[in-house]
Amino acid sequence: MALHPDWEVVIGLEIHTQLSTETKIFCGCLSKAPAGMTVAELGPNANTCPVCTAQPGALPVLNRKVVEYAMRAGYALNCEIRRHNVFSRKNYFYPDLPKGYQISQFDLPICEKGFIDIEFKKDGKESAKRIGVTRIHMEEDAGKNLHMDEFSLVNLNRACIPLIEIVSEPDMRSSEEAGAYMRTVYGIVTALGICDGNMQEGNFRCDANVSVMKKGSTKFGTRAEIKNVNSFRFVEKAIEYEIDRQIALIESGGKIVQETRLWDSAKNQTFSMRSKEEAHDYRYFPEPDLIPVNIDEAWAARVKASLPELPTQKKARYVSEFGLSNYDAGVLTSSPALTVFFEETLRLLGSDAKRLAKTVSNNLAGEISRLMNEDQIELSASRLLPEHVADAVRLVASSGISSTGAKTALGVAWKSGGKISAIVENEGLAQVSDTGALEKAVDEIIAANPGQTAEYRAGKEKLLGFFVGQTMKATGGKANPAMLQEIVKKKLSG
Ligand SMILES: [Zn+2]
Repeated sequence: MALHPDWEVVIGLEIHTQLSTETKIFCGCLSKAPAGMTVAELGPNANTCPVCTAQPGALPVLNRKVVEYAMRAGYALNCEIRRHNVFSRKNYFYPDLPKGYQISQFDLPICEKGFIDIEFKKDGKESAKRIGVTRIHMEEDAGKNLHMDEFSLVNLNRACIPLIEIVSEPDMRSSEEAGAYMRTVYGIVTALGICDGNMQEGNFRCDANVSVMKKGSTKFGTRAEIKNVNSFRFVEKAIEYEIDRQIALIESGGKIVQETRLWDSAKNQTFSMRSKEEAHDYRYFPEPDLIPVNIDEAWAARVKASLPELPTQKKARYVSEFGLSNYDAGVLTSSPALTVFFEETLRLLGSDAKRLAKTVSNNLAGEISRLMNEDQIELSASRLLPEHVADAVRLVASSGISSTGAKTALGVAWKSGGKISAIVENEGLAQVSDTGALEKAVDEIIAANPGQTAEYRAGKEKLLGFFVGQTMKATGGKANPAMLQEIVKKKLSG
């Protein structure tokens, strides 16, 4: 990001989270593809009924699970839960919205006044900050238009899919903070089990409000809204582009107009979609077809008590219980899949879990994260299982293989599965811990290097490394390093 020392940046995010309930928010239609089928294979308008296609006379009925999921998000984001909250109509016309309005919440949303703590890098240093959560409200998604040359098609499978919109305070001051906030919220909603986290399908996406003002000013500048970004990296890049654009425009005498912009990831820039002057007046009013939502004390208490351990709590526990670094604990708690894998590996290690947790973490946050990035796949799409990591870590601990050997073995298991013991055998990764074999190898190296041997014996002790290195090379890197060191010392002084 270009440096702009005279300017201050103000960012707020609105995150749309698709809830992973079985059925839609106001009807009994499935909100996903049936088991064994992908969303792409689902035919157009396959998951629809008179309610979600807005047939005359059809009435909405609220899905109780949606309220429960919204409450879970509210408690996890430290919000106050409004016990009496109301749905409103947001009126606008668009072909993917056959009712002519979206049922949303307006002045009386279910959650308000929350916050979360984020961690991010600032000038290369670890920083932390509290970001306010203004509100969380429940709403239905719209359908999808497919534009052909001469006409458009409408697919209403998405219509009435439940969403929560999580609106932050304008508390963020850099793209790094915005990225960290979005990742933290993602970690929370996926850990809560209320969102499947599939960003490619747009099940977790955000709108970013960005403005700039002169440093020291208290009046926010005119903001632009970047719509529908469904990747952490794109959000950061779009915000950086937008900051540079707005500052350059103002410094050259121009004026920022309030508008909606879109991110073009191919061109790496934002472009204008519509200015706010043409924006709608949504004429919100309370939804007459739904009664207000009343949440009693017992229900609220039950939901609150059912919350799982959240990523930030887990992270702190991993650091204190297993002595992991803050960074490694952060990687392990960044996705539920990685967390489950780590904990399952520890379970398999039984009474050794506490002693070996750091080695497990080194492998997961190191080599295995590297493989995930290299192959661009999720852990679950590889052949690697917790058994592999547990077996490899045990073998390292008992000097059966070196830590480099463990990396190689896990790399093979990642691609083709199989048992670690078989991989170690096939790949010849076993460490030589046989005293006789090591002594013989050391004898040969000493015999081949009479000059160095004499020098060592005359007091040049730093030559020890030379002998260890040569023997290690002769054994193809498979010698048990601790044993080798001992034997070399003994032989040279003998
Ligand atoms: Zn329906």
